[in-house]
Amino acid sequence: MKKILNYINGEYCEPFSGDWLDNYNPSKGEVYSKIAYSSSEDVERAYSAAKDAFPSWSNSTIEERSNILMKIASLIEENLDSLAEAEALDNGKPLTLAKVVDIPRASSNFRFFAHAITQFASEAHESVGLNTMNFTIRQPIGVVGCISPWNLPLYLFTWKIAPALAAGNTVVAKPSEVTPMTAYLLGDICTKAGLPKGVLNIVHGTGPSAGQAIVAHPDIKAISFTGGTQTGEHIARTAAPMFKKLSLELGGKNPNLIFADCNYEKMLSVTVKSSFANQGQICLCGSRIFVEKSIYSKFKKDFVEKVKKLKVGNPFETETNIGALVSRPHLEKVKSYIDLAKEEGGKILCGGNQVIIEGSENGYYLEPTVIEILDYQCRVNQEEIFGPVVTMMPFENEEEVLKMANSVKYGLSATLWTSNLDRTMRVSKQLEAGIVWVNTWLNRDLRTPFGGIKSSGVGREGGFEALKFFTEAKNVCIKYD
Ligand code: NAD
Repeated sequence: MKKILNYINGEYCEPFSGDWLDNYNPSKGEVYSKIAYSSSEDVERAYSAAKDAFPSWSNSTIEERSNILMKIASLIEENLDSLAEAEALDNGKPLTLAKVVDIPRASSNFRFFAHAITQFASEAHESVGLNTMNFTIRQPIGVVGCISPWNLPLYLFTWKIAPALAAGNTVVAKPSEVTPMTAYLLGDICTKAGLPKGVLNIVHGTGPSAGQAIVAHPDIKAISFTGGTQTGEHIARTAAPMFKKLSLELGGKNPNLIFADCNYEKMLSVTVKSSFANQGQICLCGSRIFVEKSIYSKFKKDFVEKVKKLKVGNPFETETNIGALVSRPHLEKVKSYIDLAKEEGGKILCGGNQVIIEGSENGYYLEPTVIEILDYQCRVNQEEIFGPVVTMMPFENEEEVLKMANSVKYGLSATLWTSNLDRTMRVSKQLEAGIVWVNTWLNRDLRTPFGGIKSSGVGREGGFEALKFFTEAKNVCIKYD
C-alpha cells in the first residue's frame, strides 16, 4: 500500500516511530494508503534541517527566491490533473472542483507571493528637526511552523508556505492527517523546482503528536495555523509562554443576509454555492441564511427546489455537485446536528439523510440539507457544523438581522445581498466579521487581508499582511549632524 512519507531535508523518509496511520478514501470508505505517524523526533529532525538551511535561504536574493516559487507554481499547473485526482480521492470533493479551485489556487499562491515579495517595501521616517532618520527593515523570522486543515488541503497548505518561503524563512509544515496526499506530492515538486534542501520540510501525523511538537518547539518562532477554534485555543495556550508570533485562522458560522431589493436570480444561484460548495466544508460557507420577510416564502420554495436538484455522487463523475464528506467521524458529527435540529424544533425542508451510492456503499455521502429554524439562538444556528447543512429564517428589518447575524461567537465572513448602497455601507460596517461580501461570495483577490474576529481567529493573512506576519520589523534610527 502507498506510504505517505515525511519530506525532510529534500528527501522522503520514514517516521522514527515506524508507525503508520490509515488514510481513507472518503468516496469508498476504504483505507487506501498509510501515513507516517510522526513524533517530536521527526519534528526535531525537520527543525534541524530547516535551521541549517536558513542562513543561505534568508540571504538569497529576492529574484532567486521568486524564481523558485514561480517554478513550483508552474509545476503545480503542469501536474494539475494528477494533483486534482489525488485531492478528490483523498478528500472526497468533486474532481471538477479540485480542478478549477483547489489546484489552480495552490499554484496561484506560489505565483502571487513570488511577485508580492518583489514589491514588499520597508518604510522610512525622517524626524525633521531632530536630525534623525529611521528606516525599518523586515527580516525573516527563522524557522516557522505551518499547520493546515483538511477542507482545502493543498490550497490552504500552500497559502501559508508560499509567503513564509518568499519572506526568507525556512519551514516545518504539517498538513492535516485526514488529507495528507497532495502535501506529500508537493515535496517532489519542490525538489524538481530546485528548492534547496531543508528550506521546506513536511512532517505528517496527528495534531496531538506531530502538530503539538511543532507548536511546542522552543525554536520554531512563529506558527501559522488554520483549523478549528478549539485547536486554536490549545495552540495559543501552548505558544503564549514562549511569546511566539501566531496567526490563527479558525472556525466560522457565517451569516448570509438577503434583502428583498437584491438581484434575486443572481442571489439564488450564488446562495446555492455559498451553502453547499465543497459539501459545505469551507470555513467561508454561508451556513446561516436570513431572508427579508417579504420574499421569504418565495425564496424558501425556489431555494429548496434548486437544492433538491444538486447531485450527490462519486467525486469522479462529472455531473456530481456534492461529493463525499471527508471522514466517517465528520459524517457522524454532521448527522448529529441534523438530529439536534429536529429536537430543537427545526423543520427539515429538504435533505437530512445519508446517501448510499451504488458501488460505493461505504462512502460518506449526505444529502444537502436545509433546515428552517424558529429561534436564531438555537444550537444548530450557533455552532459550526461544517457540512452540507444550512439553516434559514426570516427577518423584519436591518436592526433585527444584524442582531441575529452578530449573535454567534464567530466572526469570519458574511454575505450581504442588496442593491441599496446606503444599506450596503451601514450593514457592512456593523457586521462582526473579518470579510464581508456584497452581492457575491468567495470572491478573492489575494492582495486583500483575510481572517476573522472573535472566535474566528487573530491576525490576517493575504497580500502584504502575510509577508508582515512572516517577518520581524526592526527600526534603525540614525542621528546625523
Ligand atoms: P483541526 O483543528 O482539527 O485540525 C487542523 C490542523 O491542526 C490539522 O493539521 C491537525 O492535525 C492539527 N492539530 C490538531 N490538534 C493540534 C494540536 N494540539 N497542536 C497542533 N496542531 C494540531 O481542524 P480540521 O478539522 O482539520 O479543519 C476544520 C476546521 O478548520 C473548521 O473549524 C474550519 O472552520 C476551520 N477552517 C478555518 C479556515 C479559516 O481560514 N479561518 C479555513 C479552513 C478551515
